[in-house]
Amino acid sequence: MILGHSHPEVIEAVQAAVARGTSFGTPGEGEVALAEEIVARVGPVEQVRLVSSGTEATMSAIRLARGFTGRAKVVKFAGCYHGHVDALLAAAGSGVATLGLPDTPGVTGAQAGDTIVLPYNDLDAVRRAFAAHPGEIACVITEASPGNMGVVPPRDGFNAGLKELCAADGALYISDEVMTGFRTSKAGWYGVDGVAPDLMTFGKVMGGGFPAAAFGGRADVMGRLAPAGPVYQAGTLSGNPVATAAGLAQLRLLDDAAYAKIDAVSRQIQGLVTEALGKEGVAHRVQTASNMFSVFFTADEVHDYEGAKKQESFRFTPFFHSLLADGVYLPPSSFESWFVSTAHDDRAIERIAAALPAAARAAAEATAPEPDRLKPTAPEPTDPESAA
Ligand SMILES: *Cc1c(COP(=O)(O)O)cnc(C)c1O
Repeated sequence: MILGHSHPEVIEAVQAAVARGTSFGTPGEGEVALAEEIVARVGPVEQVRLVSSGTEATMSAIRLARGFTGRAKVVKFAGCYHGHVDALLAAAGSGVATLGLPDTPGVTGAQAGDTIVLPYNDLDAVRRAFAAHPGEIACVITEASPGNMGVVPPRDGFNAGLKELCAADGALYISDEVMTGFRTSKAGWYGVDGVAPDLMTFGKVMGGGFPAAAFGGRADVMGRLAPAGPVYQAGTLSGNPVATAAGLAQLRLLDDAAYAKIDAVSRQIQGLVTEALGKEGVAHRVQTASNMFSVFFTADEVHDYEGAKKQESFRFTPFFHSLLADGVYLPPSSFESWFVSTAHDDRAIERIAAALPAAARAAAEATAPEPDRLKPTAPEPTDPESAA
């Protein structure tokens, strides 16, 4: 909620949309307006199709990449999360990382068999994968700048290198901007690093708190989608009029001033966290990707999922609960990004500053759990929250 909860102009747009009708079963005006806003902001998106969740966006982008190239294999990176698409749940971030799940039951070997999982930020590993499977890899999918193993930005040249390796082999480069899109800048992470992907995926911010997501990119690739092309994709509630009204109202409010404010608030909170943890002598690193950031309880820079897992996560739990008791709600995992909004005003920053010293002390006093308690405990298979 990049403008905070219940922004009056977003609510007004939603109420007006609801009054006109909640589902028409055909593309509508709002869908076209939101698509135009996305195309106007993000250069590499020549054509875009709306869906209802980030999961659908990545699933559809991968199907399209396979259909376009006539190839089966997909490269993903350990610690990157692309929604709960069967083929992409191998070594995933987000809830899968938080819960320490090795890989999730319910995904068969056949479903994940064409997925190649590589360490993040390792171009040599990607080079070796292309050498081992020439002409077989449909696409490389990566978080534009990962935020689902904590914030682990791409090394200089990593995304550009992926694009180059893909182009050389005839594979597609898919940048998953479901988290970074319209958050890290007006044009998302593309606005930061300028590397043009073949396909991109969006969600989260673009829905204004409603289920709206999208995938888009090169017109010649998007042209392979049904009904113009043979690659099938559809969704009854895609481009829903209420969701698109919320998303459009929110994007229109996200101008340069809004991003400047978010960037400034982010820097302020990063500074406060570093100061509080530093005073207590807690080894930590604040890693940033534009205005996204997260705190790793380790002295070492984190470049990949292995590095992220080496942090002293046991310090996060008392840190989190101390802040929560003082009314400050962090993302409930040391593997998630911290997000700030335009609603974080001076009073909010003062409350955070006041709550941090006790939380830093709690983190300093935390002790490592007994070795046998480090073993991951799998949730009940029916727990619907397990991948939230
Ligand atoms: C959240 C997320 C998704 C999945 O989006 P949902 O709307 O939860 O299905 C995909 N990719 C990235 C990078 C995400 O952060």
